Amino acid sequence: MADSVNQKTIAKPSEPARRAVVTGASSGIGAETARTLAADGWGVVALARREDKLKALADSIKAKGGSCEYVVCDITDEGSTNDAVKTIVAEGPVKALVNCAGAAFGKDPVATANLDDWRGMYELNVLGTLRIIQKLLPTLKESEGTVLIVSSTAGIEPYEGGSGYCASKFAERVMARVLRLEQIGEPIRVIDVSPGLVQTEEFSLKRFGGDHSKADSVYEGVPDPLHANDIAESIRWAVDLPDTVDIDSIVIRPRAEGSYTKLYRKK
Ligand code: NDP
Repeated sequence: MADSVNQKTIAKPSEPARRAVVTGASSGIGAETARTLAADGWGVVALARREDKLKALADSIKAKGGSCEYVVCDITDEGSTNDAVKTIVAEGPVKALVNCAGAAFGKDPVATANLDDWRGMYELNVLGTLRIIQKLLPTLKESEGTVLIVSSTAGIEPYEGGSGYCASKFAERVMARVLRLEQIGEPIRVIDVSPGLVQTEEFSLKRFGGDHSKADSVYEGVPDPLHANDIAESIRWAVDLPDTVDIDSIVIRPRAEGSYTKLYRKK
């Protein structure tokens, strides 16, 4: 077993690298996933809107001998995503799509929630993810590939103030589950990765509109929250298993988190 996994993960010099498209690769979990997969021999195609961050990521991966292309893409935009997919597919087949692009906007109660926040999360987390999956599905199936969605434990347990984000993450988990059912018998696997609290630089800052003290309070006193590399490693493990092994769902939390509302904080 270990041998067959090792044979798969280390690209032989004569073989072209398996290509993985990673969305949301300009920061946080996506950037770390791009680094981890590249270090593992994957040819990474990094997608996001900020070109400067993507270029810096690709340069740093290449400096370490890895392979990374990048394509600027707004997955909420049909034309931008069409163009990106055309560019990617013209360069060769894609073996894995890792959907990390996503965001939370606001933490208002349902009674006063901002419709634009809900719309933004739905457009990005749900429809953006759906859009890029639909467009890459043919090449992924030709490669006996993998669709992986980074959803969240917010898609398992709703919490007060999380309604819009939780709703979008429930939708992502359902998308993964239903896609998997619909594709049974086809050469494609569908994996859901649901992280709990992960301390990344930008996620909470964006949620609270750039308010550093609110963003910092999310992680305050929590011993050893997860970091992006913990999620990247679980993604690498799941996609490196033999094609016929489908890890349906991975729920990954820091030891200090029993649930969203049962979080241990040092006094
Ligand atoms: P970040 O804010 O660091 O990363 C979000 C990424 O999404 C960025 O690279 C951003 O790049 C990209 N993105 C945003 N909008 C678009 C768009 N319209 N088109 C393409 N890319 C876009 O967040 P994290 O890394 O922390 O989170 C990554 C994923 O993990 C998200 O789906 C999040 O919901 C989920 N998650 C995060 C947890 C956490 O605690 N951090 C916990 C559980 C799940 P750019 O702005 O350049 O486009």
